[in-house]
Amino acid sequence: MKFRWLTQGSFLFESNNKRLLVDPYMSDFLETKGVKRMVKFPLSIEELKPDALLCTHDHLDHLDPETVVKISGKYPDCVLAGPERVFNHFTQLEISEKRRVLLQIDQTKTLAGFDVLPVFAKHSDPSAVGIIISADNKKVYLSGDTEFDEKITSNQLLKKMDLVLICINGKLGNMTLEQAFETVKKLRPVSALPMHYGLFSENTADPLPFIKKCIAEEIKSFEMKYDKFYNI
Ligand SMILES: [Zn+2]
Repeated sequence: MKFRWLTQGSFLFESNNKRLLVDPYMSDFLETKGVKRMVKFPLSIEELKPDALLCTHDHLDHLDPETVVKISGKYPDCVLAGPERVFNHFTQLEISEKRRVLLQIDQTKTLAGFDVLPVFAKHSDPSAVGIIISADNKKVYLSGDTEFDEKITSNQLLKKMDLVLICINGKLGNMTLEQAFETVKKLRPVSALPMHYGLFSENTADPLPFIKKCIAEEIKSFEMKYDKFYNI
């Protein structure tokens, strides 16, 4: 399995020539609310080629209606998955029923060949989820947007992942960098990479202290770039 970071909480996972796209924010939708992007989305719609699109929750930087409509129009075989509020938003966007997949906590769904298990997240969208993605005998926990919570640090399913991708921005319902480190210290993954920073100047964080703390705890970590795939 390999993956590429596409800014904020967005990732493209690839395995066996299938692609799972998570939380793409490609438009300038939030500029109308005065929130300007600092970097461009790194791939074009043509380059994305998703077989499945998943939104972890119904906030604009994760479920961008303009992006969802464009992708569903360009890729008619792409399925679209998400928890309750996302699923309802897909319905409003007139995504056909046969392409919509409802994600529920602790129920695995297979999307584009990836096993996806939604897990608890504590966020202002009450149906928000994190996800465990499994493929090629590797497991990744993507936190989505979440506050620090005991239900995450004590979840046995999240222990000893190959990779944890975790939010660090410490604002708007997300854990701080210190809390993200406390979480990975308890979960003990092989690698932990910080995400959900660097897109909006009002809502960013310096990832380096998190990375240094992880390395000191013998958890691999580094700052991801937007221009390449990483192998897991
Ligand atoms: Zn977010």
